[in-house]
Amino acid sequence: MNRKYRKTVIAANWKMNKTPSETKAFMTEFKAMLPKGRWCDIAFCVPAVCIPAAVRAMHETRVGIGAENCNANASGAYTGEIATNMLVDAGCKYVICGHSERRAMGETDADVNAKVLAILEAGLVPIMCVGESLEQRELGVTEEWIAMQIKAGLSGVGEDKIKKVVIAYEPIWAIGTGKTATPEQAEEVCQSIRTVIRKLYGAKVARAVSILYGGSMNEKNAEELLAQPDIDGGLIGGASLVAEKFIKIIEAANQPC
Ligand code: PEP
Repeated sequence: MNRKYRKTVIAANWKMNKTPSETKAFMTEFKAMLPKGRWCDIAFCVPAVCIPAAVRAMHETRVGIGAENCNANASGAYTGEIATNMLVDAGCKYVICGHSERRAMGETDADVNAKVLAILEAGLVPIMCVGESLEQRELGVTEEWIAMQIKAGLSGVGEDKIKKVVIAYEPIWAIGTGKTATPEQAEEVCQSIRTVIRKLYGAKVARAVSILYGGSMNEKNAEELLAQPDIDGGLIGGASLVAEKFIKIIEAANQPC
């Protein structure tokens, strides 16, 4: 982390877990445990039907609510989809896009790019996920692959908007597997992402963009991962479903640096 130049962000990705009633109960428990002070930004990206309950519960707190996906089109015949203006109206601040679980369902880099542009246009914060498979890591093409995902995902994002984008490096082999990247492995890729941003937008912008790590981050390994200079927070799945665990990760982000 480097709080001098950029925000630390601890974001939950609930995936397809919890009902609206469970969301309300979780948020009540979580709010009571939330540490004082404001050293990091906190986001909960929750299933679409849970957004109203989460927004209501976190009203007037420093916690932002987000969606796990959106459609890049403004409106129209897209049954089952949700547009960014709907998310704004529902009280969202963040939207995850390009998560590997959605890429596995067919989302392409062009789709991710269209979503990033739509999210920014709506005034929301995109959490754009990138990451390599185990096969790509073993082939030694991780950095090239991630650079391609970053360049494609950010195509057309102007200098006025790029500082709003949060990037999440999530090695696919570490998501939901309990196999965390080592702090060194995670730092190496996050640093290479910053280098790509520097080449695209210059050093000042690269210093200001928050890059998160995601992949089995939990209350035990968070401190070590967050101590890395280019890891500015976490995108957390499993461990964000338990209030005590997620609070411990937030506390780990509250270390002075
Ligand atoms: C995720 O879904 O983005 C994620 C990182 O999940 P987990 O923390 O469970 O690996």
